[in-house]
Amino acid sequence: MTAQATQTRDLTVVIGLEVHVQLETDTKLFCGCSTATAGDDPNTHTCPVCLGLPGALPVLNEAAVEAAVKVGKALGADIPEETRFHRKNYYYPDLPKNFQITQYDEPICRDGELEITVEDERRVIDVERAHLEEDPGSLKHEGGAIDRAEYTMIDDNRAGMPLMEIVTEPDFRSPGEVRAFLAKLEEVLEYLGVFDAERDGSLRVDANISLVSDPEIKGGLTEEALAAANRTEVKNISSHKGAERALAYEVTRQRNAVERGREVDQETRHWDESRGVTVSMRSKEEEKDYRYFREADLPPLRVSGWKEEIAIPELPDARRERLREEYGLSAEEAAKLTSTKRVADFYEELTDEFAPDFAATWVADRLLGELHYRDLTLAAVDRGAFTRLLELVDDEEITVKNAEEVVLRTMLDEGLGPDEVVEREGLGKTDDDEVAAAVAEAIEENPEAVEDYRAGEDGALNYLVGQVMQATGGSADPGTVNEKLRAELAAREPADG
Ligand code: ADP
Ligand code: ZN
Ligand code: MG
Repeated sequence: MTAQATQTRDLTVVIGLEVHVQLETDTKLFCGCSTATAGDDPNTHTCPVCLGLPGALPVLNEAAVEAAVKVGKALGADIPEETRFHRKNYYYPDLPKNFQITQYDEPICRDGELEITVEDERRVIDVERAHLEEDPGSLKHEGGAIDRAEYTMIDDNRAGMPLMEIVTEPDFRSPGEVRAFLAKLEEVLEYLGVFDAERDGSLRVDANISLVSDPEIKGGLTEEALAAANRTEVKNISSHKGAERALAYEVTRQRNAVERGREVDQETRHWDESRGVTVSMRSKEEEKDYRYFREADLPPLRVSGWKEEIAIPELPDARRERLREEYGLSAEEAAKLTSTKRVADFYEELTDEFAPDFAATWVADRLLGELHYRDLTLAAVDRGAFTRLLELVDDEEITVKNAEEVVLRTMLDEGLGPDEVVEREGLGKTDDDEVAAAVAEAIEENPEAVEDYRAGEDGALNYLVGQVMQATGGSADPGTVNEKLRAELAAREPADG
């Protein structure tokens, strides 16, 4: 092995994130423009404030502050009594004011954390800070990606949207951990009701990555070692999977550089999702480039007193634990049933009427499976109709098999109610007399199968069950048919001798 190869083996991946999430509010952060811009023409949700026209004054959106406090509480962060806004100055076509209102040395949240589980191992990722800021407008590049476009158009509908930037410590040691963190963060934000993962661009990640020598990591990663490591900042990441792929690419690229004896440049790189590569954009800006200064148009924000009144719901981990204990669910079921707050609420409401394990099987295994298959979410399910379906099964009016394979599927595919489907497909359970008649008929008409059964052949009984099911149009319960067949065959057993 060469000396260089030996050297690269001693390198550990170090990653820290800056995650921008869009907070769900009705209006923008500093003006009354609506945030519901999807599908509307460019530049139709703008006003003097978010266009940065001279003399227009920002007014802070209370709902955004509440959302930020909720995020802070969920991350177990310190929320200081007083926080301030700053101007971050830079010139870029999507920034009409030529500065962004953000927070600098007095952010609304400090020192939080989020626990993740990766390959059954628990890891705590420290959050250094989380602050409020306005989104810039957006650019539309025509004729190719950012580095090859013919021209670019500006849309200020996004200018002024409320963002929270969450900055982690460089605590990640693999791209997989980053993916797990982003999934967990989204889950928590969804529970808080402050985030919509389906909204285009609602999650944007800048990932800082460097390779640091192992001995330094083991000896406790020092500020000096971190600062000394040349790192790249990868921008334009917009999904969990994208983050994992971009960082895996960067790990390989940086390792290759070190193996060839080259230095990794300290720079900003752009993740090109379609090509699956990162490309160099520019040398990394430094803080002093931004000329931060206090935003004189906004007074300091005091959340003391108020912040205590802002409540947050039970968070996913706690709810998972409680569901296991309260309803005796398996870890797997509890995980499925708490994947979103909406699913968890849906399930728990059903337990008012049905046995917890019955409801759990129906929601976790059947309903979520059918939804997943159709690329739908719970939003597509009518609660009343689903409850009625479970009543039909619980009252044994239809078989479980028909309920799932015919009724539920038809409900989802055609939007019919359960009773309509049962009626149309003639699925009402066959009464006992009818089953008994079909059982007798199956025995009389299949003497060979009966003989095989008596000779101890297992398949023969299944064959007879199949005959009865066919005769009853699938509406008999297979378990009941099985029992009745055995009883009837035993009763008809020829006497010995
Ligand atoms: P900057 O001043 O360049 O913005 P910060 O100290 O504010 O640097 O950190 C920005 C991000 O970079 C944070 O998410 C942090 O975790 C991450 N980071 C810091 N040092 C490293 C490193 N050596 N390798 C990877 N990420 C790092
Ligand atoms: Zn506006
Ligand atoms: Mg920074």
